[in-house]
Amino acid sequence: MATMRLDIVTAEKLVYSDEVSSVVAPGAEGQLGILPNHAPLLTSLKPGELKVSKEGEETNIAVSGGFLEVLKNVVTILADTAERAEDIDVERAEAALKRAQEKVNSSESDLDLERAIRALKRSQARVFVSKRKRSSKVK
Ligand code: ATP
Repeated sequence: MATMRLDIVTAEKLVYSDEVSSVVAPGAEGQLGILPNHAPLLTSLKPGELKVSKEGEETNIAVSGGFLEVLKNVVTILADTAERAEDIDVERAEAALKRAQEKVNSSESDLDLERAIRALKRSQARVFVSKRKRSSKVK
């Protein structure tokens, strides 16, 4: 089966690097599906779920934004943050989500609403990816 190389990196570490058969990413303009030998592409990502398929196995990764490049059958994702589903501390993500919701709903005069919304979206993506992984394990 045709494959392509996928590298997911953050400023902190290499999160994923392997030959894969497909990638579904949360593109800024909507969900983006990438198969081997895709045309060159550079796009930004929004917070959400990355789904990586390799030999019939799916890996789920939460990203908080970044860039995705496709060039010569290599997909490179430069993510602001990225965590594999099994590495997500769901309690931490839920606590961050609650804090962010409280901020967004607060009437603080010096509230940085954009920052609060970014935190909300990051934590929502983490909660979503970690819970989905758990429910797919039960099946
Ligand atoms: P928190 O308020 O819980 O720190 P945050 O959204 O402010 O959440 P970030 O600044 O996006 O956190 O991330 C800081 C680092 O912590 C990154 O390396 C990120 O991958 C990691 N991280 C953040 N939340 C989680 C989580 N729930 N589980 C695992 N790693 C996390």
